[in-house]
Amino acid sequence: MLPPPQPKPFSIAIVGGGIGGLCLAVALVHHNVRVHVYEAAPAFSEIGAGVGLGPNARAARPGHLGRLRAVPDDEFRVARGAGKVFQFSLRDGEAEQRRSGRGGAASFDKRLVGIEDEGEEGVVLKFSDGTLAIHDAVVGCDGIKSQVRKLLLGEGNKASEPVFSGHYCYRGLVPADKAIEILGEDLATNSQMYLGNHAHVLTTLIEQGKVVNVVGYRTKEDKRWNDSAWVKPTTKEEMLAEFDGWSKPVKSILGLIEKVDMWALFDHLPVATYHRKGKICLLGDSAHASTPHHGAGAGMAVEDALILSKLLASINSAGELESVFSAYDAVRRPRSQRLVASSRKVGDVYNFEDAAIGDNMEAVREYLQHAWEWIWNENLDRQLENAQLLLKMRLKQLRSPEAHSNGVNGGT
Ligand SMILES: Cc1cc2nc3c(=O)[nH]c(=O)nc-3n(C[C@H](O)[C@H](O)[C@H](O)COP(=O)(O)OP(=O)(O)OC[C@H]3O[C@@H](n4cnc5c(N)ncnc54)[C@H](O)[C@@H]3O)c2cc1C
Repeated sequence: MLPPPQPKPFSIAIVGGGIGGLCLAVALVHHNVRVHVYEAAPAFSEIGAGVGLGPNARAARPGHLGRLRAVPDDEFRVARGAGKVFQFSLRDGEAEQRRSGRGGAASFDKRLVGIEDEGEEGVVLKFSDGTLAIHDAVVGCDGIKSQVRKLLLGEGNKASEPVFSGHYCYRGLVPADKAIEILGEDLATNSQMYLGNHAHVLTTLIEQGKVVNVVGYRTKEDKRWNDSAWVKPTTKEEMLAEFDGWSKPVKSILGLIEKVDMWALFDHLPVATYHRKGKICLLGDSAHASTPHHGAGAGMAVEDALILSKLLASINSAGELESVFSAYDAVRRPRSQRLVASSRKVGDVYNFEDAAIGDNMEAVREYLQHAWEWIWNENLDRQLENAQLLLKMRLKQLRSPEAHSNGVNGGT
């Protein structure tokens, strides 16, 4: 019998156990990379309603990221073209991490507050409870309010803080049988998008057809969000007042929501790099938080995890981490930052606020029918090949005698 494969001679700290951090952790365990997840929350749990994954993110899963369970959902009609949207759960992926026994582990109640670069010793992570941890590098998967992003960019950098997009939404859940009773099977069970001036409403069947997720988006007139809370409970009356002149199906489905939350929608300004010195790297929302109009933020995090894990799997020393982060940054940053900009544009189109398209329904339809193509039709194999080629070039550069004399390490 073959001896068990040796773990890589470096260890990675993952800060944040959301979809991005967990996908990366599961994939790295699979590739024998020593990894530890530090999560601020007391346990893994579900927050809010499910997220949809497009074909691009589904293509990133099989064989690469553990067994993440996929549940087919209905087609989005006009807005989402002919593509399928899938929901998924991370439970199977977590189970794989536990079973494998290959060194993957997670600690909870660990809120990262600082990172010290200790040169060849690696990085020291500092947590709010006063404890420390040492690893060769840290990948920040800590979401839109990322502390790792702040530490990477510097507190004074405008891009280190999320910015208000000018849009907010009301979210709530409705039992599918109640929705069918009032709207009929067709409207209730097929995803619908209702568009109007400065607002739109999206309904999607989730939880294997048992529940309708209802989201009513609005533009904030003054484009400011002064409240420190981004998610607040609100009343059905307040929400209905904002959709007063809308059609009967919209008012009926909104009226069925019992518990309504209001969400302010923030995103990130573009940054010049996702990494520093082979010690710190960003993934998922910490790198490129976007508004939810493309429904693709989680999918981008899954893609990030695929590319980064494959690159990390192909090196054999901590000295090569900078080359990995540099290649990852080069292939992932343009695509993921395009999502942030494109999602803002889609939100404007939905709310009839796009200067060129306005409320011209033919133009709206034409735009939305193609707006997902670049996201869903991505060739991830080719992207991975490009990243691996870049990594090879960076490593060649790193090993060249000139690199040693000039201190060049192929990074940003
Ligand atoms: C209304 C709405 C609808 C959406 N719908 C979709 C959709 O349909 N499809 C889709 O693909 N995307 C959707 N998204 C986007 C998607 O939810 C995000 O892109 C995705 O969850 C980001 O995952 P992440 O792992 O990068 O970050 P997160 O899920 O935010 O995870 C970050 C983790 O880091 C932890 N953390 C934070 N700070 C620290 C710290 N200092 N130390 C340690 N841990 C820390 C947090 O507790 C959290 O567990 C939607 C977003 C919104 C707001």
